[in-house]
Amino acid sequence: MKICCIGAGYVGGPTMAVIALKCPEIEVVVVDIAAPRINAWNSDHLPIYEPGLDDVVKQCRGKNLFFSTDVEKHVAEADIVFVSVNTPTKTQGLGAGKAADLTYWESAARMIADVSKSDKIVVEKSTVPVKTAEAIERILTHNRKGINFNILSNPEFLAEGTAIVDLFNPDRVLIGGRETPEGQKAIKTLKDVYAHWVSDDRILCTNLWSAELSKLAANAFLAQRISSVNAMSALCEATGADVSQVSHSIGTDSRIGPKFLNASVGFGGSCFQKDILNLVYICECNGLPEVANYWKQVIKVNDYQKTRFVNRVVSSMFNTVSGKKIAILGFAFKKDTGDTRETPAIDVCKGLLGDKAKLSIYDPQVTEEQITRDLSMKKFDWDHPAHLQPSSPTTNNKQVSVVWDAYEAIKDAHGICILTEWDEFKKLDYQKVYESMQKPAFVFDGRNVVDANKLREIGFIVYSIGKPLDS
Ligand code: NAD
Repeated sequence: MKICCIGAGYVGGPTMAVIALKCPEIEVVVVDIAAPRINAWNSDHLPIYEPGLDDVVKQCRGKNLFFSTDVEKHVAEADIVFVSVNTPTKTQGLGAGKAADLTYWESAARMIADVSKSDKIVVEKSTVPVKTAEAIERILTHNRKGINFNILSNPEFLAEGTAIVDLFNPDRVLIGGRETPEGQKAIKTLKDVYAHWVSDDRILCTNLWSAELSKLAANAFLAQRISSVNAMSALCEATGADVSQVSHSIGTDSRIGPKFLNASVGFGGSCFQKDILNLVYICECNGLPEVANYWKQVIKVNDYQKTRFVNRVVSSMFNTVSGKKIAILGFAFKKDTGDTRETPAIDVCKGLLGDKAKLSIYDPQVTEEQITRDLSMKKFDWDHPAHLQPSSPTTNNKQVSVVWDAYEAIKDAHGICILTEWDEFKKLDYQKVYESMQKPAFVFDGRNVVDANKLREIGFIVYSIGKPLDS
């Protein structure tokens, strides 16, 4: 059997590497139109940072795992074609600001239809709007020359930072297909691939639309949980309650459960906002404005949390950060990844730059190039898609420096903002940190990673999300 995956990104690369590792008899080829990305997959410096990934790739690359830009050849030869291309939010035209942009998906589907000479199972790995399979089927069947295509939905539930662990031991693998004999046969073929390492009770088979919608629903529920606890964090700060104690208290209720209840500066990543916006758009298109409004609120609370954090920094520092050096510790949207897509750090940094702060940014996995690009990009206003919000107009090169050491970032700073929960930020020598800073020295912990009381003993003024404030 030969598998080809179109799209060598955060999902295509790791998922296919794990399939190759677990199924040595299957040839797996990951293809992409982006030559630099493919070159990186074929080098010692993989294009994405993910714990454990290097090891998996090294074990099977060149044996049964290959990376190539020869998209058409490998698609033509494959029995199963996964499509794992990007599906970002549309930025213009109908549905701009909410709907998924399926340009990449459509062009992949047209190419599959054009180059195929044998029957294929085509698997939706990308997150797509519910009913996308119907459109894809139309493209494929319209172009076919006596070739059978079976479409399956097999959304990916891995989380960046723990992708390899998640892929090795998934909570579930979801496969949706047509309820016809051919559809069921295709489901069985894909199920047999996963059965190499996933137990039968964890492979869920549904109809196509349930599988497509389940991915959007899962991300919406996860993001909603973060916005719920973040909304509580604001109330905690207003009342003297402690969000960690509240989270623990509610998390012991078995109906709620303890996971994903950490308050923070907000969620980020390429998926949560995009997938909720997509859900909102689908609700609106199906005449369900109240349901759409319900999900919209999850994003509004997330935006509010970032604004609240910036306001807290500025108001704590005597109502201005103009000319003050602020160390930004962490820029990735979460620890153990170098991914900065939709990271809350972008909005926080822009907010501080808007008040003329000088930022010294350190993240162990994010490059200066990424940070410069992210901070210069105009923010897309999903609520008013006709408007691009200007990036901070006052930003200039002297306002931002990117450094490769936390202590270097902190030296002479008036305040520290912790925006990613990297373990190393817990282990800094805070006595040494305090001595190197301007006084009074502020710490704004956007991930609740430091021991605020210990830092207060040293002399810091500490703000932790959702915790009683420094007196
Ligand atoms: P990505 O941007 O990292 O990778 C997508 C790749 O597809 C890019 O390298 C791009 O060059 C390539 N591509 C686009 N069109 C192509 C074409 N016609 N032919 C060949 N290659 C093409 O995206 P990603 O983060 O891997 O996400 C892919 C999909 O998976 C998205 O729909 C996303 O929502 C979903 N998803 C992402 C995650 C995550 O954690 N990143 C988790 C689950 C699901």
